[in-house]
Amino acid sequence: MCGIAGVWNVDDSYNILHDILLGLQHRGQESTGIVIEGFKFLKMQGLVSQVLTKENYINGRSGIGHVRYSTFGENSEIQPLMGLTSKGKFAIAHNGNIPDAKIRMKSLVEKGAVFNTTIDSEVFLHYISLAPYSDPKLSIQWSLSRIPGAYSIVILTDSMLIAARDSYGFRPLFYGKFKGGFVVSSEDSALTALGAKEITEIVPGEMVIFSDMGLDKVKFATTKMRFCAFEYIYFSRPDSNFYYGNVHKARFKMGGILYRESQMTGDIVIPILDSGFSGALGFSLASKIPIELGLMRNRYLGRSFIMPENREEIIKRKLIPIPQVVKNKEVIVIDDSIVRGTTMKQIVKMLRESGAKKVKVGIHSPPVIGPCPYGIDTSRKNELIANQKEIEEIIKEINADELYYLSIDGLKEAIGGDKLCLGCLNLNYPI
Ligand code: AMP
Repeated sequence: MCGIAGVWNVDDSYNILHDILLGLQHRGQESTGIVIEGFKFLKMQGLVSQVLTKENYINGRSGIGHVRYSTFGENSEIQPLMGLTSKGKFAIAHNGNIPDAKIRMKSLVEKGAVFNTTIDSEVFLHYISLAPYSDPKLSIQWSLSRIPGAYSIVILTDSMLIAARDSYGFRPLFYGKFKGGFVVSSEDSALTALGAKEITEIVPGEMVIFSDMGLDKVKFATTKMRFCAFEYIYFSRPDSNFYYGNVHKARFKMGGILYRESQMTGDIVIPILDSGFSGALGFSLASKIPIELGLMRNRYLGRSFIMPENREEIIKRKLIPIPQVVKNKEVIVIDDSIVRGTTMKQIVKMLRESGAKKVKVGIHSPPVIGPCPYGIDTSRKNELIANQKEIEEIIKEINADELYYLSIDGLKEAIGGDKLCLGCLNLNYPI
């Protein structure tokens, strides 16, 4: 997963990109990259605060940026990508995954194209170059219309900034007004924190063009709307708001509906911080079972810290039980999701070792049974515990006393609609 940002026509775009990307840091912690007006760039492994330092300052009034999650690559693999095309120079930052990118790349290579990276969005640069127009804007429009998804994208040229979302709107993207210019971000919360005004969600299938002429919008594909349910379940910040509303509120409802569906009983509700917190609050309110801090989270263990390879060890260092809270209690642990099962297995073990009488598990999403081809880094199919095992077997594997997941209908009810991509939950993939 990744976060993308853009700035158009505002002084000090470097620091503005810094602030937006910092607000999107949860979407990617492995590398940070920016391209500023004049195609001056800075791309490095590391967190925003480690890369966009005072010493590295670049002057300019426009730019795009990217934070990346999940893969370790060479510096050349860090976005934004840049390329000189037949329509001029472009910089691109992309959130999402193009499922058939390899096929598209192969067909372009067979026609003589040369790729510098394995990043999906390099395909866009080639399409822009090949588009049957001389105008860069029309060439971008043509290129976007040829790829159904999944992308939210920012493109910088020497005369404009373009922000676009594929017609399914799998990934989020927003823009707002700021100090006489414009700012763009994957999540609105990063723009709200900045003080941007008139924050607007980009309509799927639409590109928004910021230039000296102001703002213009062009529809390049019919809006279908299949927003990623996992953005609501886990990925986005609780203070972010999408088409169906606020993320925290949706997670809170997921927790409440999980209680309604499961009728679990216990002495205390323990949230798995941070992403399980809103759901646990909702569960606690609905069940009237008090919420307690049974597991503390060490917030200072970042990805940059030298971590042991072993995931159990990482979880042990990250989540620390408080025996005084859990001893002799029937505890209900609430988390947002189970992917491989490693986290929950370790949590149940730690709670038992800390004296919990019973450990029951409530998950405020349905079982993850399929991988995500659209940019969420869930594991391969055979690593997904719910793809491989029935509920009873999962209960045994994680050594819990009980396990309940939210139903798919419950999830839709909590989010408030069904124009969602639920591919990883029901194997119904829109593309
Ligand atoms: P696992 O140990 O593989 O079952 O991972 C589940 C835990 O990872 C849950 O606590 C989630 O909050 C978190 N999680 C869910 N999806 C992702 C993802 N795509 N990337 C990183 N963490 C995730």
